[in-house]
Amino acid sequence: MRTIGLIGGMSWESSAQYYRLLNELVRERAGGLHSARWILHSVDFAEIEEFQVAGEWERAGEILAGAARGLAAAGADFLLICTNTMHKVADQVADAVDVPLLHLGDATAEAVRAAGIGRVGLLGTAFTMEQDFYRDRLAGHGLDVLVPDAAGRAEVHRVIYEELCLGVVREESRQGYQRVIRELVGRGAEGVVLGCTEIELLIGSEDSPVPVFATTRLHAEAAVRAAFRL
Ligand code: GLU
Repeated sequence: MRTIGLIGGMSWESSAQYYRLLNELVRERAGGLHSARWILHSVDFAEIEEFQVAGEWERAGEILAGAARGLAAAGADFLLICTNTMHKVADQVADAVDVPLLHLGDATAEAVRAAGIGRVGLLGTAFTMEQDFYRDRLAGHGLDVLVPDAAGRAEVHRVIYEELCLGVVREESRQGYQRVIRELVGRGAEGVVLGCTEIELLIGSEDSPVPVFATTRLHAEAAVRAAFRL
């Protein structure tokens, strides 16, 4: 089994999910007392968030690239960035190391395509929904990507930073997300990408009339396949 290097802490609420999922998936596959071999570099998210808001992506990328170098030196065979948003700097991180980066957008798009879906709604931070880096990655796999209207995007973004990244899960916010999902489905979305690694703390398949694609789980599944070279 290969060693997975995780760049996490963005937020640690979702990194905690990666920890559980990776170990559960390895146990399912290998049985007995087997658990995932992995190394985590967990950042201070407040610092990263300040760079996001200031648009200083390159400086945030330097922090992640430094983490990547440390993980590679510590023996990680490949790396994951445990947030959709920070894939904005995926190239900067990948260029800093010789080991491969397992891109979350690719893992997600492959699962959407495997489900026979061509048009998806995308929920995530404003950066993920409004900028090109993530939508283009999905589109590169032949997907048609819809995002919520401005009010919907603002609400989805607010709940991520003010609630989910702080471990707060509110029924009212779940209902707000359900409304946004219904609106996307009304515009033709055949599935919904939960394109922020905390959203699956709030939303499950029971909250949507179309399939949802939970990116933390999909990333963890892809990582375990890669760890076993499948
Ligand atoms: N974890 C979130 C994501 O997947 C948001 C936190 C961040 O900005 O990195 O996008």
